[in-house]
Amino acid sequence: MRKISIFGSTGSVGRSTVSLVQRHKSAYEILALSGCSNVELLAQQARDLRPNFAVIADENRLDELCRALEGSGVSAVGGREALLEAAELPVDWFMSAIVGIAGLEVSLKAAGSARVLALANKESLVCGGFLLKRICAENGCTLIPVDSEHSALFQIFEAVNYDGIENVFLTASGGPFLRSPIEQLASVTPEQAANHPNWNMGTRISIDSASMFNKAMELIELKELFPIEWRKFQVLIHPQSLVHGIVSFVDRGMFAQIGPTDMRHPISVALNWPERREQGLQPVDLTKLGPLEFERPDVSKFPALEQAELVMELGGLAGAVFNGAKERAADLFISRKIRFTEMAEIVGKVLNRHARRVSGKQSQFDLPAVRSADLWARSVFDEIAGTP
Ligand code: NDP
Ligand code: MG
Repeated sequence: MRKISIFGSTGSVGRSTVSLVQRHKSAYEILALSGCSNVELLAQQARDLRPNFAVIADENRLDELCRALEGSGVSAVGGREALLEAAELPVDWFMSAIVGIAGLEVSLKAAGSARVLALANKESLVCGGFLLKRICAENGCTLIPVDSEHSALFQIFEAVNYDGIENVFLTASGGPFLRSPIEQLASVTPEQAANHPNWNMGTRISIDSASMFNKAMELIELKELFPIEWRKFQVLIHPQSLVHGIVSFVDRGMFAQIGPTDMRHPISVALNWPERREQGLQPVDLTKLGPLEFERPDVSKFPALEQAELVMELGGLAGAVFNGAKERAADLFISRKIRFTEMAEIVGKVLNRHARRVSGKQSQFDLPAVRSADLWARSVFDEIAGTP
């Protein structure tokens, strides 16, 4: 039996992971599941999968979790310390699917003790790529990306090597505002922004998709994951979300990965790697597909894409600054304190201020430096936005 843990099990990626594990329950021994606010779902998952620990990150909800798990034999624990301790339990496979910077330290702990780290939490690579890769290397932990585009490229690079690559194309659906005139963007609501046309995801990543902050994060994630010069990366709008990644070579040959528009597929790739397993997903019927479209993104409408280039150019803590500012932007947009377009405007200013204050390349850093870059970015964002 494989020992596994699923962190962020109550979220969108977490629920999809749980559903795959539920199909083959006897194959797994579950060490820990974690949630933050959704006690009811965490308790339900724990009663079904019988982990050793159910961890609720919000300590104030621990009593509620204890009551919900009474008599189940599952130990309920709560709070940040408990979360990090549980992330260190040695497992064969660990799913890191907490949203935001809160997932970074969990990924770092897991990389120190898991054999395979399935990484959905893109913030781990964007903010702490150097640290995460170092711990994985020291511990012999295999890092498998779960983000669909990076999973696609991971699958392609299992078949081909890195020689002779001309470009790596990162596909993007374009989000809900792909065809909206640029002038309309200032007045869109959080509800409209969270309404993704193709993917069913958590609120934050959906809003990030609408602004293309998500694609910007994915460019940085790509740079951290694969040993390829980042200037070879290109974002390609592909509204059908069927081709998840493309690699082109100097001889003009191309490899593209097609898969269902369903996160259970990349999760299954990571869960079963290096094997493949039938998971009850609908096949992609090529005969029923309409035209597949590809186009260049409008960078004036989605400035986050150029900001990602600056982050990759600067390296070091620029990813943590970018992510901290972007997370703060989403908080303020969701609470209707700033407009949709102000998110990228102000993130750009925070990043430029960071660029002016750093001298030379800083490729190495520690966790406290990431934390302080994150806090710095949030407070500079507030200062520029004029919010408390
Ligand atoms: P959701 O918002 O749906 O779920 C987030 C999970 O994290 C929940 O389990 C939530 O608990 C938990 N959580 C939230 N805040 C904290 C905290 N402070 N401490 C501990 N746990 C916390 O997110 P998604 O599933 O959409 O995304 C998860 C990660 O995967 C993100 O990094 C995202 O960018 C990435 N990703 C997601 C994709 C998708 O299709 N959704 C695709 C590719 C990448 P609770 O709900 O109980 O409060
Ligand atoms: Mg993605």
